[in-house]
Amino acid sequence: MHENGGMQTNYDFVIVGGGAAGLALTVRLSEVESQTVLVLEAGQFPEIVKAYTTPGAGQQVLGTDLDWGFSTPPQESLGNRTITYHRGRGVGGSTLVNGLTYGRGSSSIYNLWQDLGNEGWDWDSVLPYFEKSTSFVPVDVAPYQTYNASAYSDNGPIALSYPTYVYDSSTAFIEALGSVNVSTVIDLNLGNNIGAKQEPLTLDAQQQRVSSYDGYYKPVRTRPNLIVRPLSQVQQVILEMRDGSLAATGIVYSDMASGTTLNVTASKEVILSAGVFQTPQLLMLSGIGPQETLQSFGISEYLVNENVGRHMQDHFYFSVIARAQTNSSASQLYNRVDLMQAAQQEYSANHSGPLTTPIGPTYGFRQLSTEELQSLGAAEALANQTAQAQFEYLWEDIYYPAVPSMVLPQYPDWKNESFISVTAALLSPVSRGNVTLQTNNIQDAPAININYLESIIDQQIALFMFRSLRTVLSQTVLSQYTVGPNYGEVVPGVDVKDESTILEYIKSTLQPVWHAAGTCRMLPLDEGGVVDDRLRVYGVDGLRIIDASIFPVIPDNHIQGPVYMVAEKAANMIKEDYNLN
Ligand SMILES: Cc1cc2nc3c(=O)[nH]c(=O)nc-3n(C[C@H](O)[C@H](O)[C@H](O)COP(=O)(O)OP(=O)(O)OC[C@H]3O[C@@H](n4cnc5c(N)ncnc54)[C@H](O)[C@@H]3O)c2cc1C
Repeated sequence: MHENGGMQTNYDFVIVGGGAAGLALTVRLSEVESQTVLVLEAGQFPEIVKAYTTPGAGQQVLGTDLDWGFSTPPQESLGNRTITYHRGRGVGGSTLVNGLTYGRGSSSIYNLWQDLGNEGWDWDSVLPYFEKSTSFVPVDVAPYQTYNASAYSDNGPIALSYPTYVYDSSTAFIEALGSVNVSTVIDLNLGNNIGAKQEPLTLDAQQQRVSSYDGYYKPVRTRPNLIVRPLSQVQQVILEMRDGSLAATGIVYSDMASGTTLNVTASKEVILSAGVFQTPQLLMLSGIGPQETLQSFGISEYLVNENVGRHMQDHFYFSVIARAQTNSSASQLYNRVDLMQAAQQEYSANHSGPLTTPIGPTYGFRQLSTEELQSLGAAEALANQTAQAQFEYLWEDIYYPAVPSMVLPQYPDWKNESFISVTAALLSPVSRGNVTLQTNNIQDAPAININYLESIIDQQIALFMFRSLRTVLSQTVLSQYTVGPNYGEVVPGVDVKDESTILEYIKSTLQPVWHAAGTCRMLPLDEGGVVDDRLRVYGVDGLRIIDASIFPVIPDNHIQGPVYMVAEKAANMIKEDYNLN
């Protein structure tokens, strides 16, 4: 049932959630042999769905027991659409189900984190933790699989590499991005996040996924002072008055295997790493959060902080889809059982072939000029976010986002044909979402309001992004792989050309990039913070938050890299605070 023998009732550190941050933190804290560390994880060990390690099997893994599969309430800003919001559930968290893409973002984002009042979070201070968490396994089978060794360490737990199967149309996409002022670069992970290349994935030398479970936890799983307990859903944090101050002294959890409700105490700290949706849910269920929410669900008020669950930022994407030549697309692989079975056999025998790659491992990051930001009405709102990428171009080897797990009803059934998609993701959203309660029970999902495109500025940037996708698609270097008129465009089709129909198309097809962050921001209290710059919850002793909830501003890249950085830095801070070095 759980690793490393029996349970005690007290540990030095009790960590809630064994995801990206939770496991990285746990592994670093348990390096100190005198300290006992317990991780309580609601999900199971990931081997219950063995395919999670196959990069190309992502669509088979989503929707299984490794996925919470949340649904948003109807979203007014998207014409009342309800969206499935995937989230990893298991030892490894969302790194068991994510798209493997690894990035860090622009140095200016972290300099902004510091300027907003967070001492020690500027780029120069966080870079060592990005490096410490990663290592690079070189692969050079296709152009633009480049990297700069100085950005990575020799033995970082999260191995990065490239897939050994690359479609020519993906290389052509990188070259077509020159038409929209995005040039090729060697590496994006040294603070310069503008440019195009093949993207590094969290892959090992055997072309298998490296999750936080594989990279951080498995190599040290026999440490006697480290207990990871799956099927253990934490219900609330125990709060008590200690020496005149409010303190977190332990947690209550449900041992799902035995059906019992148990308590564990923490002699040093309780640390919430339950992710961007469930960390604020747990705070609220424990009596810390917006007053009205606590009152309306009958929860005893320990501490009112109106910012818990608010200010959520996220990236979203949409595509222009083109009919393509069969050998430049993976459509037939995903549509034909015989091809999928052959690919599965090849991967299981040799760890080679098309399943070494998730859909679309290629990207480019674009920075808008001052004039462009002004003409889109975004200059003022993004005044301190100009030195970064405002959006990302992605290439997919399929009809996207109508991948099997998220088929959209308006798409026709074109199973015998092949497609590629050019996609854009908004990276500097002005709209803000929020997370709140639906009930006062942890068994019920939190209410996740993504609120994409609520801001007119985001709508204007999205329209700009859409038009530039057509420019990319029309480049000869790419159109040699598409079929038919209009550079192969079939969705939305060239009749969709005025602002209102393009916006309607975007609203009705966009999907999350699954990067939600910032629901318990690290900021000064009077600036809307929930944690201070050592990640301690304001007003409570012995309680920290260490996960994607604390990001004060979302980075302009995929965010698992920044989450690992936060966990590495936090582990060091905790060791300093208790003289454990
Ligand atoms: C489908 C998908 C694709 C993605 N693709 C990419 C990508 O390609 N690149 C990238 O960089 N990022 C990607 N991400 C995002 C990235 O994986 C997450 O941002 C990151 O894992 C967040 O880390 P975390 O530690 O904050 O939370 P998680 O990794 O989500 O961990 C939280 C853990 O807490 C557990 N938990 C929750 N509530 C409780 C409770 N009450 N008691 C006990 N345990 C609990 C959960 O089960 C989970 O294991 C993707 C995410 C998804 C879902």
